[in-house]
Amino acid sequence: MRQNVAVIGAGVVGLCCASYLQQRGHAVTVIDPRPPGEYCSLGNAGCFSRASCVPLGLPGLWKKVPGWLMDSAAPLSISARYAHRIAPWLWRFHRSSSMARVSRIADALHPLLNCTLDKWRPLVARAGVRELIVQNGYAFAYESEAAFLSDALGREIRLERGVKIELLVGPAIREFDPALSPRITHLVMFPEQGHCPNPLRLSRALAERLQRDGAHFVRHRAKGFESTGGRVTRVVIDNGTVETDAVVIAAGAHSNELSSQLGSKVPLETERGYHVMLESPSITPRIPVMAGEGKYFATPMEGGLRIAGTVELAGLDAPPKFARADALLAGAKRLLPELRHGKVERWMGHRPSLPDSMPVIGRSARIPNAFFAFGHGHVGLTAAAPTGEIIADIVSGGEPDIDISAFAAERF
Ligand SMILES: Cc1cc2nc3c(=O)[nH]c(=O)nc-3n(C[C@H](O)[C@H](O)[C@H](O)COP(=O)(O)OP(=O)(O)OC[C@H]3O[C@@H](n4cnc5c(N)ncnc54)[C@H](O)[C@@H]3O)c2cc1C
Repeated sequence: MRQNVAVIGAGVVGLCCASYLQQRGHAVTVIDPRPPGEYCSLGNAGCFSRASCVPLGLPGLWKKVPGWLMDSAAPLSISARYAHRIAPWLWRFHRSSSMARVSRIADALHPLLNCTLDKWRPLVARAGVRELIVQNGYAFAYESEAAFLSDALGREIRLERGVKIELLVGPAIREFDPALSPRITHLVMFPEQGHCPNPLRLSRALAERLQRDGAHFVRHRAKGFESTGGRVTRVVIDNGTVETDAVVIAAGAHSNELSSQLGSKVPLETERGYHVMLESPSITPRIPVMAGEGKYFATPMEGGLRIAGTVELAGLDAPPKFARADALLAGAKRLLPELRHGKVERWMGHRPSLPDSMPVIGRSARIPNAFFAFGHGHVGLTAAAPTGEIIADIVSGGEPDIDISAFAAERF
């Protein structure tokens, strides 16, 4: 039955939910004070990571943390001012990193992520931007045998779930891509992965197509809800209300402010990430490459070369610390020593992250016409289209293709 559905959040996740809902015949209103795709979804590394079923919290990771906190270029930093606020989240993160939990998380994430390109392709075709999916793989680059071996568990978890992995060592690496540094001793290739050369253009194209097919975009902040008989009937926005038959919360790192009003409080935090965008690069890697030690990606994009990554735990309100972006620039030159470039643009964005590296996707346990689609952390671009289809399935009263019980808000 055709319903009026309000989607809160015009990031890549909200836009994919809206697109799939519209294709199922629902009338969609997207509520967001910002233009489509201009918050976290703007600046990611662009990878469609089918292989990213490995959660961040792995057994033994905590041993690396003290060293990382002393190093301004390390993959993780925790603001001293925010440490007491983030402590309960870190404790949950630690509890999720036992081998038994890691296996269950990988089993839940793999079906969600592995189908990403199949779920994205109809959306890009409909939006007329097929060129924004490039499927030529990506690679992880290591500068020593020890660094390569320290990621063995991640490879094992992927291989067990059927991810295709190839290894290049020594001179074969520069034969594959002469732009890469001779320091790189091991290049782990994931040939089935894809990337998007312009994530912002992708979001804008989805929004334009939605609008052309009748979706309304309301440029206001959602503040709360009005309910009758245990169902949401209106979304309260800055300047009034939006009547609705169903609501989807896809407000990225701000989603808990809304879901908790519907009785689903979740430990959502932001893992702040950075990028530098380098105009007119003299060279780019053949395929996106992640630095195995630094955990940042160098991705060739339409506007230049993007170096994106790092995790900073400092909350939603602290100003960006662009020294972290500068460290990424230094990292780019380590990966690609002959790189020269023009203007450098720095960016910081708020990944919406739950401590077990899994999103919240599903119907509210308390309010039957409220749905959740947030908390995708490091894989929001990848999981956006699969999430959109799942939300459209359950809003329409059907069953999703995959088991989503692990993504319930009630798991916390
Ligand atoms: C450096 C970096 C690299 C990354 N690399 C990758 C990658 O290679 N591959 C990958 O898959 N993922 C990657 N990610 C993660 C990915 O970018 C995010 O998971 C994804 O963008 C989250 O999308 P979203 O729609 O949930 O949130 P957002 O894009 O943050 O959108 C949320 C929207 O909700 C709106 N909103 C908030 N509150 C309200 C409210 N009260 N009312 C109305 N609207 C509201 C906001 O204005 C915003 O527009 C990366 C992230 C970073 C930071």
